[in-house]
Amino acid sequence: MKKTILSGVRPSARPHIGNYFGAMKQFVDMQYDKDFDGADKYFAIVDLHTLDANKGEAMRQASIDIALDYLAIGIDPKISNIFLQSYTSYHPELAMIFSYLVTVPYLMRGHLYKDAEAKGKEVIAGTFLYPVLMAADILMYDATHVPVGIDNKQHLEITREIARKFNHEYNVEYFKEPKEYMISEVQLVPGIDGKKMSKSYGNHIPLFSTREEIEKLVKKIVTDSGSDIPENVYAIHKLVRDEKELKDIYEENKGKYKILKDILIGDLDNFIRPFREKREELSKNMDYVYEVLKQGNEKTKQIAQMRMGEIKKICGLGM
Ligand code: ADP
Repeated sequence: MKKTILSGVRPSARPHIGNYFGAMKQFVDMQYDKDFDGADKYFAIVDLHTLDANKGEAMRQASIDIALDYLAIGIDPKISNIFLQSYTSYHPELAMIFSYLVTVPYLMRGHLYKDAEAKGKEVIAGTFLYPVLMAADILMYDATHVPVGIDNKQHLEITREIARKFNHEYNVEYFKEPKEYMISEVQLVPGIDGKKMSKSYGNHIPLFSTREEIEKLVKKIVTDSGSDIPENVYAIHKLVRDEKELKDIYEENKGKYKILKDILIGDLDNFIRPFREKREELSKNMDYVYEVLKQGNEKTKQIAQMRMGEIKKICGLGM
């Protein structure tokens, strides 16, 4: 069976180490995994999923920044396609069709909706329909493998349900029900306050932080006084340093939070520096970045155009 990999990152703010370890690292690794030789690989900048967080020029800039980030972490445009979700109108068009396949009570169980509601906010319809648009992103390209963080597991189940329903209601075998999703082994990466690291919570360590930013953020990591091992410091530390080494370090420095944080600052900086330098270098050649994006956009446009033609025919839409 032909394999197709697809995933995306929202251009809401700079990606953080949670995005990297939870999802983006896999994008890079899968390029060199023998199991995925010959697979099509698509990495989207999902700006339509971000309309609540960014407006106008800031959105456009943030989207270009994600293209730069993708290249800086090692996504190779000779192997993978980087594209902008809103380059065409096909994704929201497919989402509209899908919105007729799921019920309101079903979507009300979605975690994004529930989280927004729990905050006592009036939930925007875009948040409510987020999983439907995500299903369109995935099913548009018949993706078989979707590397995402564990927080997206539910969205992938909704995608399967939508594929099944479409095939059933139209009596076709059109959408492959994506069987294999690549939930990262790294569970949710906590932020500096111990809650899920997220751009929207402002508790994140950006993936391309400067040494000064790392210092500032690590100093702010919340520690429970009283315990020998500062849990939140350790949870981040184990991402960038071997746990066997960490055991000795944390044993030797029991209760010495400042020393442990200083070691974490050094280790994070060593880890981030090559990404930061690569990004800096790439940012001097923006023509190249735009060219990569243009090629990815054109390639995915052709596929989406062809697929939407077929889908609309099945649905009896258009002429
Ligand atoms: P955010 O939730 O910070 O806005 P995105 O929605 O752009 O980030 O998520 C991009 C990818 O990163 C998704 O696959 C998501 O599952 C993953 N991800 C986001 N936050 C975390 C985290 N704290 N730990 C692990 N993976 C995460």
